[in-house]
Amino acid sequence: MQITDVRAVQLTRHLDRPQRNSRESRSERTFTLVLVETDAGLTGLGDAYGDQALMPTIIERRLRPMALGLDPCQIDAVWRRLFASRAFWETGGSVLCGISAIEVACWDIRGQAEGVPVAELLGGRKRDWIEAYASDLHWEEPPRMAETAARYVEQGYRCVKTHIGAPGEGDRDLQRVEAVRQAIGPDVGFMIDVNTVFGPEQALAFGRALILFRPYWYEEPVWPVDASGHAWLRARLPLKIATGENLYLSQGFEPLWTHQACDYVMPDILRCGGIEQTRQICQTALRHGVIPSPHNFSSGVGLAATLHLMAALPETEWLEFDPTGTAIYEELFIEPLQVERGRVRVPTTPGLGVRLRK
Ligand SMILES: [Mg+2]
Repeated sequence: MQITDVRAVQLTRHLDRPQRNSRESRSERTFTLVLVETDAGLTGLGDAYGDQALMPTIIERRLRPMALGLDPCQIDAVWRRLFASRAFWETGGSVLCGISAIEVACWDIRGQAEGVPVAELLGGRKRDWIEAYASDLHWEEPPRMAETAARYVEQGYRCVKTHIGAPGEGDRDLQRVEAVRQAIGPDVGFMIDVNTVFGPEQALAFGRALILFRPYWYEEPVWPVDASGHAWLRARLPLKIATGENLYLSQGFEPLWTHQACDYVMPDILRCGGIEQTRQICQTALRHGVIPSPHNFSSGVGLAATLHLMAALPETEWLEFDPTGTAIYEELFIEPLQVERGRVRVPTTPGLGVRLRK
């Protein structure tokens, strides 16, 4: 089989309420879906989760010419060709996101060609449902956040995550955390994500103030590449530290292991290099006593890839799931996406089990 075309299709969705974290405020979300076509008539889907201003160019101008003519079922060979055939390497950022998207599309094609879901190609489905946490609660007025959080708990989620770290609003952020904790009660897990906003000292002070509210984990408290900063905090705080969504390639995660920098590691299939890189990162994490909890804040394509990997690797915990309905999940799936009481069903049709509606 040969790759005959690689196309990028962008979709933009306006958000009714902005999604604000410590770094940015989004009033719309754009997704770049990647269609890898073959001479066998099969089309694989990927999701290019990099800088949305660049992704169509990276996919169609840089990566497409390199991918044409390759056998999509030889996934490792495709990956090597895209990643390692130039003198000047791109070892992270949007180019790696583009490579990840094409890698995911190749798994989709291979699954379709063999008539099996991707989880089977990854060693077999060990579970049919993956427990998810509601990843939303972007900072806004505390009562509003409390109301939204309570709704997720009512829907059956056993964990919710907030995105705070609003610039110059440390005290207000603690009010937000307090309001959410009160609304969800003592037994629901509560992840707190500050999206890399602090230096180590500030992160320590804020972390100490969070202890009272019993966070499930404290996510990306400092710069993503500061493994020793994460380790320094971890040694000083009685909180679990989570990080990894901004790292690339299995080698890029090594400083986390050597510094014992985290309790949970969050590789993103669509950023770190694809399904195979993520699988290696998860397996290495487990050898170091770190729990893999894949990052996912993408379209239904990235969600499906994450579901298949988590189904095949039962040691992974907590699917990151966007419950706001803005991530084009339902429209994409052959079978309607099944979300029940905070769990998401692993697709059962061949490949990723997702396709674009005509
Ligand atoms: Mg995060």
